[in-house]
Amino acid sequence: MRKLLYVVLDGLGDLPNPRLNGKTPLEAAKTPRMDFLAKKGKTGLMYPIRKGVAPESDAAVLSILGYDPFKYHSSRGVVEAVGSGLDFKDGNLALRCNFATVDEKCEFVLDRRVGRNLTSEEAFKLAEAINKNVRLTYVPSTFIFKSTTAHRGVLLIKRLDGKLSGKITNIDPAYTRTLEGVGVAKAQTKMKIEKCLPMINDEEAKIAAELVNEFAEKSHKILEKHEVNLKRLEEGKPPANYVLTRDAGDNLPRFPSFWELYHLRFGCMVEMPVERGIALLCGMEEIPLPPPTGNLKTDYIIRAGKVLDFLQKFDGVYVHIKGPDEPGHDGDAERKMQIIELIDEHFFGELMDKLDLKNVLVVVTSDHSTPCIVKAHTDDPVPFLISGNDVLADKTKEFNEKECSKGSLGVIKGPELMPMLVKLLKD
Ligand code: ZN
Ligand code: ZN
Repeated sequence: MRKLLYVVLDGLGDLPNPRLNGKTPLEAAKTPRMDFLAKKGKTGLMYPIRKGVAPESDAAVLSILGYDPFKYHSSRGVVEAVGSGLDFKDGNLALRCNFATVDEKCEFVLDRRVGRNLTSEEAFKLAEAINKNVRLTYVPSTFIFKSTTAHRGVLLIKRLDGKLSGKITNIDPAYTRTLEGVGVAKAQTKMKIEKCLPMINDEEAKIAAELVNEFAEKSHKILEKHEVNLKRLEEGKPPANYVLTRDAGDNLPRFPSFWELYHLRFGCMVEMPVERGIALLCGMEEIPLPPPTGNLKTDYIIRAGKVLDFLQKFDGVYVHIKGPDEPGHDGDAERKMQIIELIDEHFFGELMDKLDLKNVLVVVTSDHSTPCIVKAHTDDPVPFLISGNDVLADKTKEFNEKECSKGSLGVIKGPELMPMLVKLLKD
């Protein structure tokens, strides 16, 4: 049986950048291995969800793994709770959170990510203090706030006398959401802290919103005085003095597994709770990885080794590499280009010599564009390549947005990719 290697480079897609002489980071980067794969295979462009939707990673990943996100989407909060190992049950409330820096009056967000330098250790201590000292009293309820990586966290609230509804708005001003629960990135304007409000006229939603507001106010009081933040202020760093919530959800998504859909056993290699949550909910098995070393080269080499090992065991491996997304949000085109080069050199470099391309179908793509000139996710299509496994080459010369726009696979939508791959695998 032939195997499938599905590589997602988070936020890879981009737009021409003046700092790179009008090239995109992927165009400007030296990527001989991905270019080789593109040259040997076929390419195209993909709207991760559809034109006009700038997706968050959760809906995008679900979509490019073959599930219509409007039909199957659950909230990111729930997905991250599952991916973080929290015990979520229907009727509980789960929210994705960011530690953030806000002004003294709690009116505006000064930094949604605490300067991007909050360590996971600092975040853990802050979360511990919140869990220990905050009590929610609006209705009888308990909660767990879990820090995941750096400034990111998940909040799980359980009401003891009934259910909660996830149909509530975000406190985080950077994202709005549709009533179906799909998160949509907003153009970054003035970052006013929003109150959490019910989106429907429903008691469970009203109570959920009140509990979230209570959590935000009470946790702010704990965070303001916490020694981690006092120390950060002393060091001239922004304090993590607020928890922004978004993408609340109240029920576990139920969608058919990869096995049910395609009769494929998949392993996943992911970095963030959101991707872990989705992969587990698709019935994939997690491939254990050592914690990040802080050295991207080493981490990419380790991943490549694991791919080679676990392609023996599974029919397919889904690898999600977070790398390019962060510099996209930071607007740092040079850094994004460098990270793409590191992935090419060390992840693909390590793989290519040993990968049996005759029997492995390789896909490289992204979950959404994070253009450096926009500093946010956009609806721009992402490039994709399909190579190996006797796929006949089209005329693509390199792997980038411009070349892939001329590729023979044309412009597709996220949910069309998996069926296309499965057909190629089984032909
Ligand atoms: Zn993403
Ligand atoms: Zn992103």
